[in-house]
Amino acid sequence: MTSSLPPLNQFPELHQLQQLINQYPQHLRAEVLGHISVKNFSLPIWSVELGSTNPKHPAIGLFGGVHGMERIGSQILLAWLHNLLARCEWDIALQQVLTQVRIVCIPMLNVGGLLNNTRANPQGVDLMRNAPVEAQNNTLWPLGGQRLSAKLPWYRGHKTIMETESSILVNYVKQQLFTHDFSLAIDCHSGFGLRDRIWFPYAAHKTAPYHLAEAVALREIFNRSYPHHDFYLMEPQSLNYTTHGDLWDYLYDQQLQQQPQRVFLPFTLEMGSWLWVKKNPRQLLSLFGLFNPILPHRLTRVLRRHLTLFDFLLHATASHQQWLPSQSTRKSYQAQGLERWYLPK
Ligand SMILES: [Zn+2]
Repeated sequence: MTSSLPPLNQFPELHQLQQLINQYPQHLRAEVLGHISVKNFSLPIWSVELGSTNPKHPAIGLFGGVHGMERIGSQILLAWLHNLLARCEWDIALQQVLTQVRIVCIPMLNVGGLLNNTRANPQGVDLMRNAPVEAQNNTLWPLGGQRLSAKLPWYRGHKTIMETESSILVNYVKQQLFTHDFSLAIDCHSGFGLRDRIWFPYAAHKTAPYHLAEAVALREIFNRSYPHHDFYLMEPQSLNYTTHGDLWDYLYDQQLQQQPQRVFLPFTLEMGSWLWVKKNPRQLLSLFGLFNPILPHRLTRVLRRHLTLFDFLLHATASHQQWLPSQSTRKSYQAQGLERWYLPK
């Protein structure tokens, strides 16, 4: 038997999203992409969309809750959606931007993991190790992904059949983002290091992505426009560690092969949760506290902290033609990126 939703205290983010969907039907287009059965519940994986429906316009995709334990990622997306929807009622500048750009979002992908408070999905699969991508260098075992047991962390799952949640994400990105000439994605995680990092492909190897120049150009306009937001460290993921099965590596390469004339820039926000632990070492006593801020004032600060980044990415998507490198400047952006991250020092 399955009943409707888990109680509010077990899954507050799902209730918050459903409340936004009910409250703003005039702005938000919501759809259930699938259900995950766990603990007698049938949990919906929601997607929400707002802004332009014109496929000729650029699109931005925002994703959260790929790792169930890192619920702060879903919470910051919900905080931003709440902010946008409240502003849709009065902010004519925002209304104007939304006529030019499409926003698509899956705030909670791994709903079973969110309910169970686990990194993996209910089958024990780490979705960020689940894509059919093999790392080319030595990865740290088992962190880089392992097929020994679903009882150990970083389990990759079946070799060729992706998990329901991974397939939902892959199909959604192909249908909603690959169909645009320009699109950008940001997937929100937490738990690595002391800094907030913005990662771009690749996770599987240490070679530069084809769109390195575009990533450098985006970094440059952010740093120039927001000099006091220097807490973000933007870099290729492989600079930190390499992994098998990264869904964004997989999607990035798929798009490059299928439609090389289009630009799709996937990023991952890794919020540095060790900072919260350092400031409040008692968090070490709880597994939840390793991945999420616990003290109320710190949670509020984290929810506020990334609103600017999401607004920036929205505007950068809408205005991509103003900052994307041209054929003549591409080489110099690329050289800057190679120098910074890839060439031996
Ligand atoms: Zn994560």
